[in-house]
Amino acid sequence: MDNQVEEIKNKLDIVNVISQYLTLKKRGRHFLACCPFHGEKTPSFTVSPELQIFKCFGCGKGGDIFTFLQEYEKIDFREALEILAKQAGITLKRSAEFTQSYDQKKKILEINNLLSHFYHFVLTKHDQGKQALNYLNKRQISSKTINTFKIGYSPQNSNSLLNFLSKKGYKPQELIASGTFGQSYNRLYDRFRHRLVFPLINHRDQIVAFSGRILPSSGDQKLAKYINSPETDLYHKGGMFFGLNLARNHIRKKDSVIVVEGEFDMISPFQAGIKNIVALKGTAFTQDQLRLLKRYTENLVLSFDSDFAGTLAARKSIELADSIGFNIKVLDLKNKYKDPDEAVLTDLPFFKKQVKHSLSIWDYLIRSAVSNFGIDTDKGKKQILSFTLPFLAKIDNSVIKSDYLRKLAAELGVDKNAVAQEADKLSKPNANNNSVASISFIHKPSQEILRTEKLEEYLLVLLFSAQNPIELLKEISPETDLDQILSMVKFKTVLNLLSKQKNFIAISFSKKLPPELKDIFASIYISATANQFDQEKILLEINKVIKNIKLVNLKTTLKELSLKIARLENRGPGDELKKTEEEYNLTIGKLSKLQS
Ligand SMILES: [Zn+2]
Repeated sequence: MDNQVEEIKNKLDIVNVISQYLTLKKRGRHFLACCPFHGEKTPSFTVSPELQIFKCFGCGKGGDIFTFLQEYEKIDFREALEILAKQAGITLKRSAEFTQSYDQKKKILEINNLLSHFYHFVLTKHDQGKQALNYLNKRQISSKTINTFKIGYSPQNSNSLLNFLSKKGYKPQELIASGTFGQSYNRLYDRFRHRLVFPLINHRDQIVAFSGRILPSSGDQKLAKYINSPETDLYHKGGMFFGLNLARNHIRKKDSVIVVEGEFDMISPFQAGIKNIVALKGTAFTQDQLRLLKRYTENLVLSFDSDFAGTLAARKSIELADSIGFNIKVLDLKNKYKDPDEAVLTDLPFFKKQVKHSLSIWDYLIRSAVSNFGIDTDKGKKQILSFTLPFLAKIDNSVIKSDYLRKLAAELGVDKNAVAQEADKLSKPNANNNSVASISFIHKPSQEILRTEKLEEYLLVLLFSAQNPIELLKEISPETDLDQILSMVKFKTVLNLLSKQKNFIAISFSKKLPPELKDIFASIYISATANQFDQEKILLEINKVIKNIKLVNLKTTLKELSLKIARLENRGPGDELKKTEEEYNLTIGKLSKLQS
């Protein structure tokens, strides 16, 4: 399989592969984008066509096309291999290296596909689905929409379904692992029985789970209105949206996404032609979900319950979305309708108008606080402040922040500086001098190591920025034994290998490195080639860095020696003490010579 991995790598260009997912901009010898793996507004995600790797200088993630796809799509190596093999036009050999988890996922997918067909068939073609179909008709869901969303119905009695699956050869434990089936008294049952079933389809068009809605006629009022599959190898609820598979191209085209809470709130607008819409399973966003949306747009329109803004979940979601760089707006149904589904079915023009005129989240918060608490009393004003300030204080962009603080002050008729001061208190964590002092004390030794490491790394960056690093290394070598001066083994290994080369081609050099050094070399080489260093000044700069490294080394030696002397002095006079003192004086001499 290793051969096939190499074959795929040779056929595909990393820039083409990553361009399918991110917009890359050429800068010098590299391509840049905002990193999809951490929230950032200025690009530090770098793709090197030369090395055929990517590296993010913000969060440190890096690797080849396989790592990229695995991280980006949250899939395992085997899945990435299949996708890339397909792109490269290579047929993968069957091998024993199918991982167990890959097999498991594949099995769940197969079962989910069969289940989806079965449920959909029962709803649309079978007598047992009649009641459910009537319910959908009453909610004005067309048969076209039922097909588009693959909506289904799970019959009250699971026997025929279980027979169907066992005839296909699935074992009980496989059915349980799919998440759809539970077990009680040694018998399997379908969690979604006597429910409408919505397949949850991810952005890669895979049915990863289901959600089931109870029918109003079900009689048992104790049952939850909606239930979802439990998390499985395939389904992580914090990582997906309902409807994204159908909406993603519309989101891209409209450059905005409307996020609603429930299945029907997504389906009704979609059916009515408002197609850039998804449903969040729950009320709080996760980082994964926001990053998933950010692949398609940066404009977020939230349409949640009217009491949404009052919750902690809302505050966290808004903060998170703001920090990742979303423009957040709110679709306000003006308390006329309880949710988008109702609004679309009763007054579509109104809904469309509200979408068009959605308010900035900050305006919305100020406005709803003012209408909730009133500005006529001091108490009301205080409540408005304590409701809105925690949100406004956390706005990432300081210009926008100060604009809204001014707006709020004007609305309340109070001094804008006072409002800004209150916001400041909220945005800064309480500073405590004592704890700060103790923290810096604890970190002192590691900071020194960090400094040495930074210097040595910079030295290598300079070296590799030369047109011919091998020649430059030779130029430095006679006077300076880098192997002795450097303390980090990883850097020494890289230089050792370099000194043995006849000519330098980055990618073939990288292939010769031990695996654990590939990433280190990649980030050094990318830094080296990111900036245009003045070739004539490289040697000068390198000599400066070497001097600095020597200084740091001598100072460290001095510290060690003085500790040793103190220890020896406790034992009384002796040869070793005398020798150490001589060594100490010698080091002092070297240090002052170097400093002059
Ligand atoms: Zn990053």
